[in-house]
Amino acid sequence: MTVEFGTASASPGERARGYWDATTLPTGTPERLPVVVVNGSEAGPTAWLTAGVHGDEVTGVAAAQDACAALDPDSLVGCVVCLPCVNPAGLRQTERTSYYHGDDPNRHFPDPASDSSRPPRVQERIAWRLYEAFVGKGEAPRADLLVDLHTAQVGSMPFTIRDRVLYGSQRDEEAAHALADDLERLADAITLPVVTEFEAVEYTERNLQRSLAGSALNAAGIPACTVELGSRSVVEEGNRAAGVAGVCRALVAFEMLESVPEKVETAAPDVEAPVDYPVRRYVGPHAETVGIARHRVAAGDVVESGTVVADVVAPTGEHRASVTVDREGYVLARQGGVAVYENDPLASLAVRDEGELVVSRSGRE
Ligand SMILES: [Zn+2]
Repeated sequence: MTVEFGTASASPGERARGYWDATTLPTGTPERLPVVVVNGSEAGPTAWLTAGVHGDEVTGVAAAQDACAALDPDSLVGCVVCLPCVNPAGLRQTERTSYYHGDDPNRHFPDPASDSSRPPRVQERIAWRLYEAFVGKGEAPRADLLVDLHTAQVGSMPFTIRDRVLYGSQRDEEAAHALADDLERLADAITLPVVTEFEAVEYTERNLQRSLAGSALNAAGIPACTVELGSRSVVEEGNRAAGVAGVCRALVAFEMLESVPEKVETAAPDVEAPVDYPVRRYVGPHAETVGIARHRVAAGDVVESGTVVADVVAPTGEHRASVTVDREGYVLARQGGVAVYENDPLASLAVRDEGELVVSRSGRE
């Protein structure tokens, strides 16, 4: 079957490139999102691959481009639909957000359980159009799996975020467990350290169910992960290669590829979690003392309760406080910037997770 998306049209066994119009700009041209469709010679599942939702997260963009280039349509079962640059306005300016109206473009995807009476602005309209596309309401087939490539903070280690699977109004508990099994298969296949999202209440407070992968997972029931590939603004070669390999390994896990292309496999660095227990995201510890941060930890360091994460010094350099963490885990990244205001977090951590992957949306059992 020929797969079409925007101006890209690929017959079985073909790779096609083109553009998909997301909106029309006030100055008269469409905002075109670049598209690559790799259509396998044999019919099968559809994987959607997205990157650059945050415009400055360029290692993800490069990894998506290179993953598409590495795939041979003749050895692919099913189809890959890739949007390597979901936020071209952000990419043009090396900015996280688009300049349409500055708010986070990765918090506008649909969540049927959180109605808003506020009329949607253009960024939200684009998110909804993209959602309709990957759930199969447009020309291209619905995603059977989705990988959304991002980057985190300066110097951060690469990792895969696995969202909580919510049950309640959208699906019952049994369906949530079946979806969670597929999600675990996807997250594990990518072979980067897996970090579960914040606990359910913080997850929805932060509106993460309205991220691209969060919405694909929790609104549409598609196994979907967010992959974080290091720093922003410049392409980090090792993390790019890890991202390409992660995408190919996901395709192997979903029986779309027999094996990862050898060139991709040899280029990929081994990235292992420094602890062997389940972890979740935690932004902290927080500083009570204001001043200038001097970190004592770096990405990949293991921490335990009492580990000093950073000192806070006066602007003139004298020591004011040492900030310790109250749980165990490891450092994903130091917080960017050194100015510490009241209650500012100092790091992004992966901490021991006692919670369940499948949780009730309301937070009650
Ligand atoms: Zn991002």
